[in-house]
Amino acid sequence: MHKISALLIAAMLVGSMSMYAQNERKCGSMEVLEQQLAADPEMANRMEAIERQTEQYIASGNHNHDRVVVTIPVVFHIIHNGDAVGTNENISDALIQAQLNQLNLDYRKLNSDASLIPSIFAGVAADAEVQFCLAQRTPSGAATTGINRLNQGQASWTMNQIESSLKPSTIWDRNKYLNVWTVIFGGSDAGTLGYAQFPGGSASTDGVVLLYSSVGSVATPNPAGGVYGRGRTATHEVGHWLNLRHIWGDATCGNDLVSDTPVHNTANYGCPAYPHYSTCSGTPVEMTMNYMDYTDDACMYMFSAGQKSRMQALFATGGSRASLATSDGCTAPGGGGTTCSIPSGLSATAIAQTSATLNWGAVSGASSYNVRLRQVGTTTWATGTATTTSTNSTGLTCNTSYEFQVEAVCSGGTSGYSASATFTTSSCSTPTCTDTFEANNSKSAAKNIPLNTLSTALINTATDVDWYKFTLTSTQKNIRITMSNLPADYDFKLYRNNTLLNTAQNGGTTNEVVIRNNTSTGTSNVYYIQVYGYNGAFSATQCYNLLVETSATAFRTGAEFADSMELQPLSFDVYPNPVTGIANIHLTPGTADEMVTISVYDVTGRMVMSQTRLNSKETADVVLDMSQLSNGMYIIRLENSEAVLSRKVMLSK
Ligand SMILES: [Zn+2]
Repeated sequence: MHKISALLIAAMLVGSMSMYAQNERKCGSMEVLEQQLAADPEMANRMEAIERQTEQYIASGNHNHDRVVVTIPVVFHIIHNGDAVGTNENISDALIQAQLNQLNLDYRKLNSDASLIPSIFAGVAADAEVQFCLAQRTPSGAATTGINRLNQGQASWTMNQIESSLKPSTIWDRNKYLNVWTVIFGGSDAGTLGYAQFPGGSASTDGVVLLYSSVGSVATPNPAGGVYGRGRTATHEVGHWLNLRHIWGDATCGNDLVSDTPVHNTANYGCPAYPHYSTCSGTPVEMTMNYMDYTDDACMYMFSAGQKSRMQALFATGGSRASLATSDGCTAPGGGGTTCSIPSGLSATAIAQTSATLNWGAVSGASSYNVRLRQVGTTTWATGTATTTSTNSTGLTCNTSYEFQVEAVCSGGTSGYSASATFTTSSCSTPTCTDTFEANNSKSAAKNIPLNTLSTALINTATDVDWYKFTLTSTQKNIRITMSNLPADYDFKLYRNNTLLNTAQNGGTTNEVVIRNNTSTGTSNVYYIQVYGYNGAFSATQCYNLLVETSATAFRTGAEFADSMELQPLSFDVYPNPVTGIANIHLTPGTADEMVTISVYDVTGRMVMSQTRLNSKETADVVLDMSQLSNGMYIIRLENSEAVLSRKVMLSK
């Protein structure tokens, strides 16, 4: 490996782009493998499992029997920057066809230069029994030539760019196709001839990448390719993709996991004279003409039987590339079976915060449907299948736009995906009340709270706190603060300027009340109330009530009330009952002017109406309009600081 690095550095020092192709062969497969293994700890386990399956396949002896030749559908993604077809990196159809032909010759030992194989290796030179076809149908079932020209608006590519963005955004289903991308390598990867992903790697980056000028054949060399223009880079890289290692094992006298290849001390370049002896133990003649060495295109022309066994194991039962052997990628659409039309009438129903039902119209002849969904503006689809014309999609994000597409699956293939239908999930919370005080999450952002008027507000997250402030007049110097209708365990603190006066911290949803009867108070003092959920309690949908009352006379405290038997307990009557629309509520007159809260609850305990009003010493009648409510049983609740009273009423309009 040191030798390669040194040569690469030398090449970079002397080279312009056009010179790289004339320098030493450089394959990026092992470098990419190392990066992938570092980024994905599970990959090593997958590769190890593939090695075990390969060993079992070879140990079974099945590889001694010729099997049906495996035909692999290939798509060539020709990545260009706007050049005309047949110009520069936008290579011609003829060169692509020539490359495909060379792969078929090399993997069937039909290559003309197989005649050059030395007699000592003739016995192990193998027909790998793999052949290749240009894809005739796209993953969605449309017709194709297998040549996918993509103007990506970029002149050259590093391997990192190819791995992170180019491949994932352009790859065809790796279980059905061998993906080949042709590019100009740039940046630190200029001079690379190609690289492949080994079996066991990610589904989004699987395939082979080739320098455009390496695409060609022995019979039709690429005019820009020099000694690497005869298509053997593809043969070499597809060898990696089929689990072959470099013949020197990527180490000095390393192990290529094949028993019938000689031990090479390192890579060979150019066109070594035969015989070239290894310096490793036994000094064997090296198999410099093996496709997995680094020699020039014209000087590599064989696979060994051991290499063939490794490749064929991938297509045996349990093999990691077995699905390719049955791919329909090289069957033109419409050839046999029933084709079906693209689904239409897409709609989303039952849209909730995290789920929706996706619907479409039935397609005649369809046995099932493929459905794919993604957030609008993203590139990755989540896919699923359905045998009916709807499916429930869960795990969505609230208040987010999604698009989905559907294709029909028929015996003759798939219809191709429909145009997108879009929908937006429900808002992340749907408060049943309005919080007009936010943002008031800090003391410095405290909002003025109106006095003697019921206010409502939300604690809508675990970290939300609400700050309020008020000042007193010289006469209205007594304070009563009531927090009620609590959806969860809320507490509050009362401050005068920076001094904490009280903490109201009843458990559960019990009302919180603080009374401050002041003998005197400066009108310049500012009072602050901090409301918060105990231990992060909150409700994104239900408000709490907060009432700050001020009075010239002292508020009765619980102790006073217990000792003041002359005080009338609160009571009320409702008439008529059943209520026909308007409920008349008669209160016993208050012993002092005070605020009372009248609330109406339905039988499920849900508050449907609430108002707070002054109950004076003189007048004590309230008119409650219930005509907007549905008929049924209701509970009217009356509350002041001392008591909570309830009456059941029937509403019968
Ligand atoms: Zn290689």
